[in-house]
Amino acid sequence: MDRTRLRADCTRCAALCCVAPAFAASADFAIDKPAGTPCPNLGADFRCGIHDTLRERGFPGCVAFDCFGAGQHITQVIFGGRDRRAEPGIAAGMYALLPVVRQLHELLWHLAEAAERTTGPLRAEAGRLAADVERLTHAGAATVAAVDAGPHRTRVGELLERVSVRVRAEHPGPDRRGADLAAPGPPRCRPRRPGCAARTCAGRACAAPC
Ligand code: SF4
Repeated sequence: MDRTRLRADCTRCAALCCVAPAFAASADFAIDKPAGTPCPNLGADFRCGIHDTLRERGFPGCVAFDCFGAGQHITQVIFGGRDRRAEPGIAAGMYALLPVVRQLHELLWHLAEAAERTTGPLRAEAGRLAADVERLTHAGAATVAAVDAGPHRTRVGELLERVSVRVRAEHPGPDRRGADLAAPGPPRCRPRRPGCAARTCAGRACAAPC
């Protein structure tokens, strides 16, 4: 399965992830932003004005976010390249699709990974599930918006569990299920002060001028 289209291509998107979701000022975002409102850092060219300094400026959530290609799929495929700014009436419909298509694309990503890591009936099952999910992503906007991804997540999760058992049997090693693999990092402001320009966060004791 080709995962190319599941990789975010911001050049073919209309900055949906910088407009559609709401942000809450926190360790991940420096500001509050209501859903459906462009981030103040977003330019008219749909590019982020602080892309090179997102972490330092208090937006690590933007760095971590991955739409799995949902943005360009909604913009170019489901809405045929139409511009939400020229047609404000379509904007809400585009925004509503982002969480749905993102979940479906994430499932496709994991199914592709599963297919690569196994053979025989398990691989065939991964292919069938992927075809089902793929079909959903090509339905019309109204149909996609009404998709409940939950049952699909359950079916895919059950298959991934079986693939995992097979892979672990073939490649024995430490079982790290449930382990906290995140390396301890420097203390972080919670929330980081909006506009903070400090390159190294010193946490709540921060004395950097804002
Ligand atoms: S900070 Fe940049 S990447 Fe993050 S939402 Fe705003 S415009 Fe988008």
